[in-house]
Amino acid sequence: MTQALTEQPNTLLEVFPRKLEELRRNGLYRSFFPCSHLAAERGHATHGAEKVQVWCSNDYLGLSQHPELVRAQIESTVEHGTGSGGSRNIAGTSATHVELETRLAAWHGKERALIFSSGYVANFETLSTLISAIPDIVVFSDARNHRSLIEGILRTGCRKHVFPHNDLDALERALAEYGDDHPKLIVFESVYSMDGDVSPVGAICDLADRYNALTFVDETHAIGTIGPTGAGVCEELGEHRPTFVQGVFGKAVGTVGGYVAGPDGALDYVRSHAPGFIFTTALPQSSMDATLKGLDLVQEGDALRRRLMDNVRYLKGALRAAGIDFIDAESHLVPVMVPGAERVRRVSRRLLEEHGIYVTPINFPSVPRGTERFRVTVPPYRTPEQIDDFVAALRKSLAPE
Ligand SMILES: *Cc1c(COP(=O)(O)O)cnc(C)c1O
Repeated sequence: MTQALTEQPNTLLEVFPRKLEELRRNGLYRSFFPCSHLAAERGHATHGAEKVQVWCSNDYLGLSQHPELVRAQIESTVEHGTGSGGSRNIAGTSATHVELETRLAAWHGKERALIFSSGYVANFETLSTLISAIPDIVVFSDARNHRSLIEGILRTGCRKHVFPHNDLDALERALAEYGDDHPKLIVFESVYSMDGDVSPVGAICDLADRYNALTFVDETHAIGTIGPTGAGVCEELGEHRPTFVQGVFGKAVGTVGGYVAGPDGALDYVRSHAPGFIFTTALPQSSMDATLKGLDLVQEGDALRRRLMDNVRYLKGALRAAGIDFIDAESHLVPVMVPGAERVRRVSRRLLEEHGIYVTPINFPSVPRGTERFRVTVPPYRTPEQIDDFVAALRKSLAPE
């Protein structure tokens, strides 16, 4: 017999509405914006009965709606079905999983690559498994690292130093506290998405060499967007030294999943020990086949990357001409500053209601209070007219009501 929901409420559950109320009071309650992207009209989505333009997508190259990826996924689904039917160990490893891992390893110049359900899982599982296997290892972690990196480190309870963002002197001082033989791991990103800045990968590798440390670099935002074949900042710099390179498919590659590339023994160990790799259903072959196609387009995608950066330059010029404050970062990300939690939400609402444009307001804790912003992206398919219209709408929405 089913029980009425209101009967004998467990007092333990009362804590949640109270905590949610607190979130609302602090302006941190999250509401989702349902938007169904339109493959036939890239950069657009339906929001209920409305059609909106989306200006904050992580689909940096627009590949998630590319006809060739869509076709690859449909054809593979017809041939292989919708699910993998098991974990990687239990009939979930398709020929495409194997091919993709081989290609990813070669792309990053590493011995082996391992695919996970997402970039978050790749970071969390690889870091927590590796760190747990090396007794006494000390981890040096950039202060702006993504939550998945932080959680992977915290999971192990290891000793750690959080160094100020990109601060090489502070990193060196922390490294120098330990003897040459003390195991060390430096964890950082190549592109930080909130500011769009690029880290000094070469200088961090120099320090790693000097102090005998392993390195783990999250190239999430650089995959597909930076480097001659889109393999990231390391490829751009010709930098082969990072021990581990992490990347995702859910952003510029246009599908879903994440991976780590690195030394054979270490990743073979992760393959046999990481619970979030072993005890979970593998991604479907259809998704892997679409990813393989996405990787093809990324690797031959110099024209796409050029158009992306042309659009970034055009957008920055238009913002400058309109007197709109933004961070002139090195990467393809364009943070437009709209300080004030209430203000950034209000401007976002005006853009939507008056112009049919959607950009997510970015608030604390993603960025420090007082530096609220929009993280604007301009995929290659955007036209100069669309960019001009976007900037005009932004200017109107920023003006006092
Ligand atoms: C998005 C992101 C991830 C997680 O990737 P998902 O595939 O979305 O789970 C990891 N690291 C960074 C820096 C990211 O921005």
